[in-house]
Amino acid sequence: MTEEQRRSKKRKRGNRRKEAAAKNNASSSIAAPSGSANPTKSSSKSKSSFLDKMKARLSGGYFRMINEKLYTCSGDEALEYFKEDPSLFNVYHSGYQAQMSLWPEQPNDIIIKWIKDRSPSLVVADFGCGDARLARSVQNKVHSFDLVSNDPSVIACDMSNTPLASSSVDIAVFCLSLMGTNFPSYIQEANRVLKPQGWLLIAEVKSRLDPTTGGADPNDFVKAICELGFASKSKDLSNKMFILFHFQKKEKQKPRDINWPELKPCLYKRR
Ligand code: SAH
Repeated sequence: MTEEQRRSKKRKRGNRRKEAAAKNNASSSIAAPSGSANPTKSSSKSKSSFLDKMKARLSGGYFRMINEKLYTCSGDEALEYFKEDPSLFNVYHSGYQAQMSLWPEQPNDIIIKWIKDRSPSLVVADFGCGDARLARSVQNKVHSFDLVSNDPSVIACDMSNTPLASSSVDIAVFCLSLMGTNFPSYIQEANRVLKPQGWLLIAEVKSRLDPTTGGADPNDFVKAICELGFASKSKDLSNKMFILFHFQKKEKQKPRDINWPELKPCLYKRR
């Protein structure tokens, strides 16, 4: 190659680079909204809103993945899952709060009101307490249990095996927390720690107890808990998203074979 040919090749390369840079500049000025006083600032704004959207999408995806995991494994597997990466618990709870904000009524609020209407001397156990809002909202002594503890008042454990003494609790609460495939063992644990005449309050997602869409029959659910040794006191179907059950532990319980219905997972759709 002659000296002249080398120089002409270099010139062409340089021109191609300039053209590419000009193209890039053009596209960033197109991305900036018209009338913007500071195109650089608005393009970084649009970039950050795009990033925010992507982050929201990713965390929504993580939430749905963790949620599905919790509904399709046992409590001890779920405990191990969060032990491996406790940060997943916060991801789960941000997604959970986002879902809850779409519900017209929160079951936790109704349960809190019910407890407030009774004596503050009653001892409460909140099984699957989440952010322990119940404990913060009432004067009663509340034992709060969840798979991860982000607060010293919450005991991290699988709730089928709590450190509570037998017959030591007046009110046991499961607010949307019967997630594990071994959910009957959570209710059996509540039965162990409840005093005779103690209350068992369960709020569950309606679709899990709707036989018309593949859910369990709520009457079978009530029957199983009665077979364990409870009296059914009320079944409130008036809320759009959940059913609220009140049971009272019988003074004397007879051991029986219990036919527990299966509760289908509650999976959230991508929005
Ligand atoms: N009761 C709270 C949180 C509901 S979300 C409220 O109403 O706001 C369900 C909670 O149950 C989650 O925090 C989940 O971690 C917990 N949970 C599910 N299975 C559990 C188990 N086996 N032991 C302890 N907590 C459990």
